[in-house]
Amino acid sequence: MSKPRTESRTQAEFLAPLKEIDPQLDNLIKDELKRQRRTVELIASENFTSRAVLEAAASVLTNKYAEGYPSARYYGGCDVVDEVESLARNRCSELFGAEHVNVQPHSGSTANQAVYFAELALGDSVLAMELSHGGHLSHGMKTNFSGRLYHFHSYGLDRATGRIDYDEVERLAKKHQPRLIVAGASAYPRAIDFGRFAEIARGVGARLMVDMAHIAGLVAAGLHPDPVAPGDYVTTTTHKTLAGPRSGVIMCKKTYAKAIDKAIFPGLQGGPLEHIIAAKAVCFKLAATDEFRERQRQTVANAARLAECLRAGGINLVSGGTDNHLMLADLTNIGITGIEAENRLEEVGITVNKNAVPYDELPPTVTSGIRIGTPAVTTRGFREPEMEQICEIMLAALSPHVTAAEIKSLHKRTEKLLAAFPLYPHL
Ligand SMILES: *Cc1c(COP(=O)(O)O)cnc(C)c1O
Repeated sequence: MSKPRTESRTQAEFLAPLKEIDPQLDNLIKDELKRQRRTVELIASENFTSRAVLEAAASVLTNKYAEGYPSARYYGGCDVVDEVESLARNRCSELFGAEHVNVQPHSGSTANQAVYFAELALGDSVLAMELSHGGHLSHGMKTNFSGRLYHFHSYGLDRATGRIDYDEVERLAKKHQPRLIVAGASAYPRAIDFGRFAEIARGVGARLMVDMAHIAGLVAAGLHPDPVAPGDYVTTTTHKTLAGPRSGVIMCKKTYAKAIDKAIFPGLQGGPLEHIIAAKAVCFKLAATDEFRERQRQTVANAARLAECLRAGGINLVSGGTDNHLMLADLTNIGITGIEAENRLEEVGITVNKNAVPYDELPPTVTSGIRIGTPAVTTRGFREPEMEQICEIMLAALSPHVTAAEIKSLHKRTEKLLAAFPLYPHL
């Protein structure tokens, strides 16, 4: 039990690679990489982040405590992370044209929570999209903190068009006199008129929060109407179309900057994740490139082609199609539920999620629909010809008469398609 021996063993453990320290966990990570390589990823909220983002996220910045903000920290030794965080803030501000940026929210939900915390008193009225029509759980779901702490009212989609009825939003705003209106959704396939939302908010003395979690990449590329100029607050995730690390951001007008910063720290969070903030800085740099813009354009083009092809195959799409990176298929007419479709597609190597359609009569654990998105497959390199192949595989798999042998051969087809598009070859 001599001291040096103990120390050297500690040092050996400190320096050993993951596969030696924890082969069980290392294998699980490898299994997940295999799963990602072997499936056609059509979950609309997912993407593959770049190697550079992965490197930043796994960096020694994870070691640093930095409560506070650049130049106003509660810990010493923050010079470097101050630069990291300032870089992330400035790049985000430039990318989206935001007056003020807070890059510390750990996730999209936390970003929303901070806006509510800064803007609302307990029990205040908010108007947001109905969850079962495409809203997010942080937009007032009864069992979510938002629905428990604030008084949420909701606007739904028009039954006939499957689109937001702005006149109805205005009517509800006048009726409920909310302090905050939330625009933005998790499963809405159409462009959102944020200018109209801002007008409605102004008309009733409410503030407008746009949650652009899903469409941030499209916004950065100029492919979706801008929420940053009309919105008092704009929140987003950075891991969906934006293709960065799993995290969140808040943008706001200068007048709200202090309140937002205080709401995040010390209001809701302690030390920021500077390694993830660094990864966000990388993501914002990449999102300003022509290559990124081209990929977003292809993402939208891929969604349009897939939507066209599914419709031609007899699948009903909510609102009849898509303007963005996702579509919502209503499977009622083909006699298969959302959960059945999700499972069937998994058997042929395609990942989607079951999703309620507007006015769905089935419970949320079953649903009548699936949500389908193209960000991840586009990052992987798929273009229109691959979307057509995926569509054929999906249509065949969802057919009520499909046999076990056919499922097998469809899965082979998916694997063959994927083999031409290697994922993270360096790993
Ligand atoms: C995904 C999403 C979020 C939440 O993001 P998390 O990082 O999962 O908390 C918030 N709002 C909308 C509209 C989303 O789609």
